[in-house]
Amino acid sequence: MLRSERMLAKYPFIAAARDYLARRGISIDELGSERFGRDVERALSRIAEALERGEEAVIGLHQDEEVEVLSFAIALLLVASIGDNWLARRWALAESLRCGRFLEEEVPEVVAELLKSELGIKVEPSPPTESELGAYKVWVPHYLALTARIDSLEWKLVNRVVRKGWVYVTPKELARVAVEAIQKRIMSRYEDARGTPLPDSLSTVAKRIREMLAVKRSYEAEVGQVSEEYWPPCMAKIKKELLAGLGVGHFANFALAAFMLTAGYTQEQVLAMYSQRSDFNEKIARYQTEHIAGQRGSRVKYTPPSCSTMKTHGLCVEDGRLCPGIKNPIQYYRREARRAALRKKREQKSGGEEGREGGGGFLATST
Ligand code: SF4
Repeated sequence: MLRSERMLAKYPFIAAARDYLARRGISIDELGSERFGRDVERALSRIAEALERGEEAVIGLHQDEEVEVLSFAIALLLVASIGDNWLARRWALAESLRCGRFLEEEVPEVVAELLKSELGIKVEPSPPTESELGAYKVWVPHYLALTARIDSLEWKLVNRVVRKGWVYVTPKELARVAVEAIQKRIMSRYEDARGTPLPDSLSTVAKRIREMLAVKRSYEAEVGQVSEEYWPPCMAKIKKELLAGLGVGHFANFALAAFMLTAGYTQEQVLAMYSQRSDFNEKIARYQTEHIAGQRGSRVKYTPPSCSTMKTHGLCVEDGRLCPGIKNPIQYYRREARRAALRKKREQKSGGEEGREGGGGFLATST
């Protein structure tokens, strides 16, 4: 069922697509040749669309199924040769969302087989007697693993129908869960492909992608300026996770933005931080940042959540052990900054006194 060219074109990450290419005996060195011009062009458009629009990218389905399979492999090779994790995550996200949209349209048997055999997700179409609970059921441990990064309440297990170790989901929800797994699979293919030498004939295409990437990541310099010397452990942790490309929930994003703006960082620096997300959308992020800064909507400037709210959301580090007496992350930041300023002052003072003593000694000796 998964071996038809149509299926490979829709889901080019699957093992059968690799077998298909292997059977055709195409070597990597040939890929830049004129014969594969259309495939390379399509590969470039897949990456460019992902780079430009992130999770709103529309990669679509090329009418020539062979082009579709080959262009995915070329795109993977190109992204791996560039080796930028942010680009890789953004491309993998766009590709997995594309697959998710196709999955929503498939018959239940195809969806279940693809998820089971290719992604190792234990899922079954619900029997007719249980179909009113949800068209599919997912095994609880797999459901939990795949929804861990989704922080909306409706996904929490307590809000789901669970029976005998299975969670019931709609086709749309199952596609959403599958997107997480497909993104992981594409990222692992990316890791495997890293270090594969790119044929010279593709280096011009890689150069174009690097140029597009540089324009898109013009925020990079700003991120470098954001020092976390005085940051509380919770905010430093959120930042670290963002930079590592881990999924950071909406509340953590909000807390970080409100913290940075209150601490005096510029909106551009906050945007630079958001830009580390693979689903970064500058327009939306700018709107949200302006909203938190009190320049939109209710015009209320948001302050960071209190430590107790951070704890409720599981964002406090070591239950506050590292921050005795602190009630709000901004209080930690200000206290540390004040202490550092005092230390600096004292050092300058003692340095000056030492200088005077030394000077006196010199003068004394010289007389
Ligand atoms: S105690 Fe407050 S400042 Fe410290 S890590 Fe927890 S939430 Fe952050």
